[in-house]
Amino acid sequence: MNSTPSRTIIIEEFGGPEVMKLVDREIGNPGPGQIRIRHKACGLNYIDVYQRVGLYPLQLPTALGMEGAGIVEAVGEGVVHLKAGDRAAYASMPPGAYCEARVMPAAQVCPLPDAISFEDGAAMMLKGLTVQYLFRRTTPIAKGDTVLFHAAAGGVGLFACQWARSEGITLIGTAGSDEKCALARENGASHVINYNTEDFAARVREITSGKGVDVVMDSVGKATFEGSLNSLKPFGMMITFGNASGKVPPFDVGMLAAKGSLKITRPTIFTHISDFEACQQMARELFEKVTTGQVSVRIDQRYPLEKVAEAHRALEARKTTGATILTV
Ligand code: NDP
Repeated sequence: MNSTPSRTIIIEEFGGPEVMKLVDREIGNPGPGQIRIRHKACGLNYIDVYQRVGLYPLQLPTALGMEGAGIVEAVGEGVVHLKAGDRAAYASMPPGAYCEARVMPAAQVCPLPDAISFEDGAAMMLKGLTVQYLFRRTTPIAKGDTVLFHAAAGGVGLFACQWARSEGITLIGTAGSDEKCALARENGASHVINYNTEDFAARVREITSGKGVDVVMDSVGKATFEGSLNSLKPFGMMITFGNASGKVPPFDVGMLAAKGSLKITRPTIFTHISDFEACQQMARELFEKVTTGQVSVRIDQRYPLEKVAEAHRALEARKTTGATILTV
């Protein structure tokens, strides 16, 4: 197949949403271990903001976007799990999903079941695989355990609420408005706390009759870090996995002893999906959760590719709920 141009979002400098530019890029044929995919939609994630502003530095110029779904157009040597014409979806490095078509590594691209739409596929891979690894691969979490989950009405958050409900896990969700709290509850949170109007750690103690929770899943970072530690039971596990309010500042590890022999981890999805077999198995479990109706994909915002700056502004202004996709 010959090279064709693809409308692609790139940045040449770090900065606000205005640094994103739509350009025509020539894309070639896939090399060994690669595929060429034509997108139907791609997903927006908070990591795209961290990359755009330079919090997670990339070499410039760079394309952006970590999640997409579409049709495989060609496969390179050695790729056996996909072929031209297959429906597929992915969360994957390197950035570059905000485009019509691209050549990319095949290992993290997964065959998408016919029962899942391209839009849902584009909205669910990075967020859903994150929830899969948080609940399955990070610390043992059993039916009846209690988890505190921040930003519970967001993209990852609504998957987490539904996942917890499907597993009989009690999820206490926080969110920044009463409307968002209501949405988290509708999606499976057993308790909700508006952390802009309430002291969430104190409320967690009330809800758990003073005991605290088994696990905290905290992607808000700086603003919630200490309150999250204060919400844990002795031996509880703090999973800090994002920085929507800023990076967690350096802290004294002795604090973990003082608060009850706490554990802490700072995972990233990219370690979990780096192994081909693990990634494909995680995706199969996620797809099963969706096709059996235990978890549904909620897309609350759609923007055409060329309106990506508006999409970033809404995400950073905390105006979004559920997932956001870019249509191509
Ligand atoms: P969301 O849709 O959840 O959007 C982020 C939400 O964070 C906002 O809607 C807002 O909800 C909350 N928030 C709290 N403080 C701030 C702030 N100061 N500025 C902006 N938002 C704030 O995004 P995603 O679903 O894409 O991602 C959720 C989080 O999970 C992100 O931090 C992301 O980086 C992290 N993540 C980490 C991964 C990993 O493997 N480590 C993988 C995937 C995501 P509210 O108004 O309710 O407070």
